[in-house]
Parts: sequence; structure tokens; C-alpha cells
Amino acid sequence: MIPFNKPPCTGNEEKYVLEAIRSCKLGGNGNFNKKCQEWFEKKLNCNKALLTPSCTAALEMTALLTDIKEGDEVIMPSYTFVSTANAFVLRGAKIVFVDIRPDTMNIDENKIEDAITEKTKAIVPVHYAGVSCEMDKILNIAKKYKLYVIEDSAQGMMCSYKGKPLGTFGHFGTFSFHETKNYTSGGEGGLLIVNNQHFEERAEIIWEKGTNRSLFFQGKVDKYTWVGVGSSYLMNEISAAYLWGQIERAEDINNRRLYLWNIYYEYLKPLEELGLIELPKIPEYCQHNGHIFYIKVRDKNERGKLIEYLKQNGISSAFHYIPLHSSPAGKKFGRFHGKDEFTTKESERLLRLPMYFDLSLEEIEHIVFTISNFYRFKDTKAVKKEFIHNMEIAFKN
Ligand SMILES: *Cc1c(COP(=O)(O)O)cnc(C)c1O
Repeated sequence: MIPFNKPPCTGNEEKYVLEAIRSCKLGGNGNFNKKCQEWFEKKLNCNKALLTPSCTAALEMTALLTDIKEGDEVIMPSYTFVSTANAFVLRGAKIVFVDIRPDTMNIDENKIEDAITEKTKAIVPVHYAGVSCEMDKILNIAKKYKLYVIEDSAQGMMCSYKGKPLGTFGHFGTFSFHETKNYTSGGEGGLLIVNNQHFEERAEIIWEKGTNRSLFFQGKVDKYTWVGVGSSYLMNEISAAYLWGQIERAEDINNRRLYLWNIYYEYLKPLEELGLIELPKIPEYCQHNGHIFYIKVRDKNERGKLIEYLKQNGISSAFHYIPLHSSPAGKKFGRFHGKDEFTTKESERLLRLPMYFDLSLEEIEHIVFTISNFYRFKDTKAVKKEFIHNMEIAFKN
């Protein structure tokens, strides 16, 4: 069976985890934590990167940092993971869902302004599959109405919009190192990016359980004490050690995923040209990271049949988010603004194919041939071999 996902492991993770154990310093603030944070600050060209136990935790920190409270409204797409909404619901906010664009599955920037009310406090763009939302437009709206922008960049590590890394546009950016993401800290993990200096000190206080322990480490106060609200938002050292093994190979992992993504794309193009499926659309100014490879089929019914057919042929595939506004909690804590033109329809026809660092070319061929057979389209073998050859030369170092 070809699994849907396999967490990446590139070689040095075990060694670094052992090193962390032997350092006898397993809490937050250890060497691997520091190394990772510095790497992200440099890579993303940002002032403050804080490792967290999950992207969920990082999102919760942003809700505390922006003082979201009962009665506030937060705008986001309905096509996202529950944590995007939960972080703000935990603070008593009402979620206002806005429709997505059918091409990128991201929030439709042209439908945001109409959803803003006196109560709106923040916009949370989600960069689906590491493909950027329309950030210029979103930042302009946020500026006009004085709203916070929190980028849920869980899937967007190593991605950019017009050359600038995702996660660095809003007041805050959050990332995930869950085992299903491109880089993992051994299962669960996340990262908060603070892009506005004004929030840096409070971010560290919230991170350190409401204490000014970070200032104490920096020698700025002579003892640390409880100074505000906070929680336990540090990543442990063993997770950071595992993560270091991955980000050390960040470019290799990224290149490999893009390589596999492009192979899928080229192989499946003939099916798209015949109008049988649709392939992902990447706006030209967005650099993605091969996080997800999805196809869109005719409808929910056809998708169910294809999932079953793939399964019979040893292939696991997966659909994605059931729109939050149609879930029991989504109905209770949120409302959909305007017409649901694309959110439900497009989510019902999207199918994710196996995508992971270790996936082989042979496996992709088997998957593509199986899909082709499902559509009784036997020409796939004619797909340009020289393309694959060129890609291999381009991506292998
Ligand atoms: C994975 C994901 C999350 C949650 O990340 P965790 O690290 O598991 O908390 C949040 N938002 C989006 C869009 C995600 O894909």
C-alpha cells in the first residue's frame, strides 16, 4: 500500500535527539531550540521566531497578543483546519467565514471588505498548500480598517509571495511542524513569527507562562516574575533536535517535494487537457513548496469512486477540509458572510494524492496510471520521458 503520508527523516535526526538527551537540558531554551530559532530568523528575515508545541499553540498566542475578546469578529476562510478558528473562539470571538477563490482555494481577497463590521479585529489568511493568498490586497484592507493580520502559514514554510517569505507579511505568522507537514519536529511542533517589534516582549512573556524569564536570560532584569497572562508555549529540546535534523536539509527536502510535484503535474496534464480532471493553479508570483498535490474531479460522487478505486490498487488518497461553517462547532461559533459560491463545491471535488519526501518515481507512475485507468485513458505512458530526465538533472545535486 502506498501511504498518503510518511513523515520525513533525512538521517541526522536520531543523532541530534541523542545529543539533546545527553545534554541533560530538555526544556525549552536549549541549544537546538536556539539554533532553530536563529535559522528561521535568518531564513525568513524576521526579528523574532519562537518555537511552539504546535501551530495551534502559535495561533492561540496570536489571539492573546491581539487581545481578542468576547464579541470581536475574526475573518477567515471556511476551507481551513479547525485550529485557525478555535484559537479565536477560545477567546470568545465570533468567526466570520468568507468564500474562497476556486483557483488557489485561498480566501477571496475581493470578498473580505464586505464582511468587515465595527466588531472586526483581525483577518486570518490561510496559505493553502503553501500557495500564497493575495497579500497586497489583504494588507491594504487591513491598513484601511486598522485590523490585525495573522497569517496561518502552517503549510507555507519556504514559500514566498512576490519574493518575500510567507509568514512575514502580517503582524504574525504561524507555522506547523506536525508530522504531515514538509518539516517536522518529530510529530508535533510549531513556530510563531512576530513581525512587529511592538509585540516582541509580550510574545515572549506569553510564551514563558506569563513571566519575564526571557528578559532575565538576556540579563535585563535580575529575577523573573509573573508579569501577565501566558501559558506553556515552549517547544521541548528533543523536538527541536529532531527539527534541526530536518531544517539542516531544508533545501533538499524542498527540492525533492517540488520535483515530485512537477512530475505529478506533467504526468497528469493529458488528463486535464481532456477535461477529465483539474490540476492546481499556481499564480506566477507565488513560490510554493510542493506541500500538497491535489486534483479536482467532477463532483463528490466521482471523488468517492476514485478514492475507492485507488484503494483497491494499493493507493491511499485523502480529501481535505470539510468547510468549517458546515460543521457543528462552526455553526455555533461562526457565520458565513455572503454566498458560498466555491467553498463547499470546490472542497467536495478536491482529492489529495500521496505526497512525501520518500515517495518514488515508480510510485507516482503507479498512481498516475491508476488514475488514468479509472478514466479509461491509456495514453499516459506516452508522457515525455525527457521531461523526467531533465527534472532529474535539475534537482539532483
Ligand atoms: C496543520 C495545520 C494547522 C495545525 O497545525 P498543528 O501544528 O497540528 O497545530 C493549522 N492550520 C493549518 C492550515 C494547517 O494545515
